[in-house]
Amino acid sequence: MDLVLFGPPGAGKGTQAKFLVKSLGIPQISTGDMMRAERALGSELGARFDSFMSAGKLVPDELVLELMAKRLARDDAKAGAIFDGYPRTVQQAEALDALLASLDRKIDRVIALDVVLEDVVERITGRRVCLGCGQTYHVRYSPPPESGVCVSCQGTKIVQRSDDTEEVVRHRYTEYQEKTACLLDYYRGLGVVSEVDGRGGLDEVTQRIQQALEAR
Ligand code: AMP
Repeated sequence: MDLVLFGPPGAGKGTQAKFLVKSLGIPQISTGDMMRAERALGSELGARFDSFMSAGKLVPDELVLELMAKRLARDDAKAGAIFDGYPRTVQQAEALDALLASLDRKIDRVIALDVVLEDVVERITGRRVCLGCGQTYHVRYSPPPESGVCVSCQGTKIVQRSDDTEEVVRHRYTEYQEKTACLLDYYRGLGVVSEVDGRGGLDEVTQRIQQALEAR
């Protein structure tokens, strides 16, 4: 199965993707995570991502496509994938369709998580991430352990992402509204969209997603 997790920054795509990885047995492909990994390597490509990401702007399509083509060629993605934070423009969606078609695949489902701006700001500015394994925490709802040791990987670097400040979040949200939200119509036209209320607790949203997946 090829599934897109769709929604604004802070909708809970990354968190919910981790559950779907377990229940569907296919990998999460997050372009944001891949770009952060490239930045952490200090590569030339990573430096090119950096200027866009720090400002909350979308990275140009051609750079994203290159990254995706390489990722989809890996063995673990042969039976499908959960796309998180990708596609973000119509050009990316069309390119993904073409890539999948060349593998005799297509997007089977789009789970569109619906949340409002104020929730997005609250969720993102309170978010903390383990640099070792990507486990996320929230200062109010699921605070990182006082010991500073990650519950998943026992790493000790739990940080706030540099683009998770309120100013950058608002910019990311505007980018979403201007360039990404319209993609939902593209996928509605393909008849693959399930809209899911993304408000409330993590488990509640997971349940709604599961119900939406079973409903088809
Ligand atoms: P995310 O981790 O999905 O919230 O993405 C963080 C940042 O990475 C975004 O604000 C963009 O600067 C960049 N980014 C991630 N995925 C994409 C994409 N598919 N297209 C363009 N830029 C992206």
